[in-house]
Amino acid sequence: MDIKLINKATAEDIALMKEARKAMKNSYSPYSKFPVGAALITDSGKIFTGCNIENASYGATNCAERTAIFKAVSEGERKIRKIAIVAKKGDAYPCGVCRQVMSEFMDKNDIVLVEVNKEIKRFRLEEILPFAFEL
Ligand SMILES: [Zn+2]
Repeated sequence: MDIKLINKATAEDIALMKEARKAMKNSYSPYSKFPVGAALITDSGKIFTGCNIENASYGATNCAERTAIFKAVSEGERKIRKIAIVAKKGDAYPCGVCRQVMSEFMDKNDIVLVEVNKEIKRFRLEEILPFAFEL
């Protein structure tokens, strides 16, 4: 799939990625040993962070992005305008479930930042989740 970068990282992108990296330190990932951190900014300007939290049952595991999103929503936020994701090793592209959860609280043109090979890649949500499920 051909994904184009919409432009270079902004100062806010870099700051959000730093927050995601900090959040990654709290990752609970004894099974995959794949620590992930995420940070998002809401329309109201608040920042929420999250890390992946694994479980022995595997299925009860929660991704870093969803942890951050659920923290924001549980604090009354309903609109996220940008989310940053970083993994300790490898790429940090969000899984399909997280992309769908993002689509619930983000617009198609909102920004998803993914650190890949030490580089911040910047996508519109619609680029990484075309034809999201909607009711
Ligand atoms: Zn996920």
